Amino acid sequence: MLFPPANSQADADVMFRTGDRIAVLLPLPLAGAYDYLAGPGQDLAPGDLVRVPLGRREAVGVVWGPGSGQPETGKCREILAKLDLPPLPAGSRALIDWVAAYTLSPPGAVLRMTLSVPAALDPPPADPVAYVAAARRPDGLRMTPSRLRVIEAAWKPLPAAELCREAGVGVAVVRGLAEAGALDRVAVPRHRPPAPPDWRRPGMTLGPDQEAAAAALRAALDKGYSVTLLEGVTGSGKTEVYFEAVAAALAAGRQVLVLLPEIALSAQWLSRFERRFGTRPLEWHSELGPAARRDGWRDIAFGRARVVVGARSALFLPYPELGLIIVDEEHDASFKQEEGVIYHARDMAVVRARAGAFPIILASATPSLETRTNVAAGRYERVHLPSRHGGAVLPDIALIDMRRTPPARQTWLSPPLIEAIGETLGAGEQAMLFLNRRGYAPLTLCRGCGHRLQCPHCTAWLVEHRSAGRLQCHHCGFLMPKPAHCPECQAEDSFAACGPGVERLAEEVTERFPDARTVIMASDTLSGPKAAEELIARMAAREIDLLIGTQVVAKGHHFPLLTLVGVVDADLGLAGGDLRAAERTFQLLSQVAGRAGRAARRGRVLLQTYLPADKVMQALKSGDDVRFYDAETDDRRAVGMPPFGKLVALIVSGPEPEPVDALARHLARTAPRGPGLEVYGPAPAPLSLLRGRHRRRLLLKAPRAVNVQAVVRTWLAGLRVPNGLRVQVDVDPYSFL
Ligand code: ADP
Ligand code: ZN
Repeated sequence: MLFPPANSQADADVMFRTGDRIAVLLPLPLAGAYDYLAGPGQDLAPGDLVRVPLGRREAVGVVWGPGSGQPETGKCREILAKLDLPPLPAGSRALIDWVAAYTLSPPGAVLRMTLSVPAALDPPPADPVAYVAAARRPDGLRMTPSRLRVIEAAWKPLPAAELCREAGVGVAVVRGLAEAGALDRVAVPRHRPPAPPDWRRPGMTLGPDQEAAAAALRAALDKGYSVTLLEGVTGSGKTEVYFEAVAAALAAGRQVLVLLPEIALSAQWLSRFERRFGTRPLEWHSELGPAARRDGWRDIAFGRARVVVGARSALFLPYPELGLIIVDEEHDASFKQEEGVIYHARDMAVVRARAGAFPIILASATPSLETRTNVAAGRYERVHLPSRHGGAVLPDIALIDMRRTPPARQTWLSPPLIEAIGETLGAGEQAMLFLNRRGYAPLTLCRGCGHRLQCPHCTAWLVEHRSAGRLQCHHCGFLMPKPAHCPECQAEDSFAACGPGVERLAEEVTERFPDARTVIMASDTLSGPKAAEELIARMAAREIDLLIGTQVVAKGHHFPLLTLVGVVDADLGLAGGDLRAAERTFQLLSQVAGRAGRAARRGRVLLQTYLPADKVMQALKSGDDVRFYDAETDDRRAVGMPPFGKLVALIVSGPEPEPVDALARHLARTAPRGPGLEVYGPAPAPLSLLRGRHRRRLLLKAPRAVNVQAVVRTWLAGLRVPNGLRVQVDVDPYSFL
């Protein structure tokens, strides 16, 4: 990656005055900023939020710099007002410019991710007024029974409406008492700013390796920009270690951002934070309600929120005093945003740290090849926790060769795994079965004619969800009840479920182990973060014997009594053959395996596989991750694939296939040529129909030294995209669907 120059705060003094021509960036997908004139009495600086006219409307934008481009119409119009908000910090602005240039997105589209809560730009609603009985009743006040009821009800502050309801009176009575001085008006704060985390509280006593790692992270804090990989096996105490860096950053008066892949499933993380710092951090994710978003955005912008934990979108919030970012599970694919502005939050977090001249920590048990390569090249530092905390040993991983010990027909558990589950439950311990497939069965077909039930809008099979009684597309959400007749041959009741999902696996388990308390955990069986939190707590409290889960169980949960993990289909992620399939399977299964034996008892992990000789299976079995990564690295280097070469995907889509094909062929004909440049495609995307849009893909591959953004910009310059069609650019693609 290329980096923006380390930022200087100097531009705070650049002032614009009445009549100056200023570039204002609007949170809209426009080519660039528009020029406006500073209005009378407006002293403005870069980052200031301003209200400007836009056509016949008004819009909020950000002062970006001296005017240099186009006014929005023929004539340069005046800025209407400066908003009463802190300026967008220089680091945020540098991030926006950089992300726009890197991802080939309009800067305004990136700014929109920062100004993501329009309501937060308005002054907050006034605190509601409440009435409370005055300490002393004014002399000579005429008391009536209704007045008396009001005074009695107002022993604590109540809003007028509530007080009227309690006392059974009209609002005039309340108003009369307030005017007479018998009721005091008080404002009840609608929103309490977050309590500052207490970094002075002592943390856990760290082991020697942990202490050394924490010291290295703390030392990086006053040295400006740096990237440190915090690598340590599952259970080595990475969280406790980076909490020390959080404490040090807070002590230095800085804000801290922690990015987690699955914030909605991070209840355990949140309670650990609370134990350490005495309060919860501010959470930022898609499940927040509108009021929490508005208040949270303002708490961040005004610097009242000192620690923010969030999903990838939290990166774009306007932190005025950000001084440390932590990306936990940095290898996780969910940091890649695939819609709108397509970006990788881990990589862009590094850009943000560079722009703000502060350190960033990337934590993982199985770092991405990209990060490892950056460490090897000396661009990133590395600190290492080689063993589990408190003497817990890593689980023993064994392979079950499914060709030798196959499961009985229409079942999915092989005899050795069944035996192991029996032993574990018999010993009063917990087991977990991992299958990364939601629903009952991934495919439903007609026994009569072989017809497969497919999504009408996507190139995808419909997945049966038996508990919900319907078929569902996992790509677009299309739902339908299971039909009584085959739509092709009209046969009745002829459908057969093919393959297992977690629901079907649960059926098998319940049949074999009827006494075990079995629970399914998948993103669609959980109604929200609360439900996830509850389930995890029940598992930790040993109220569940057997947990069946999709990848949501893989995330950093700590289950002390879990001693057996069975991976039902270890080969699942290897199909499809995208460039990171092996790496991702290794990371996911390592993470799943890491749930076992995290306390005193040793854990074991059994992987069911038809490919026991595969490099991933061998690496998991031997625990020799270094050898695996080295071999992966050599393979990628040999073919010039990332991180040793660059990829950019173009996805052409539209409602009708012919114009999509025509545009894709045109792009292939005009493809860039040059040393080392290769363009593949157009090819129908594996999901050649998605949400009703036909899709074709082209892939540009280039050597590392090539500025692919410039190449693609030239390629697409002057391209006429017919109405309804779209060309999406995905720089550093992670999904090839
Ligand atoms: P990782 O993130 O590396 O998987 P965690 O930070 O989750 O590891 O730590 C694993 C478990 O060990 C947690 O329950 C944590 O509270 C505990 N632990 C880690 N370090 C210490 C320590 N120094 N003292 C006591 N408990 C610790
Ligand atoms: Zn669909």
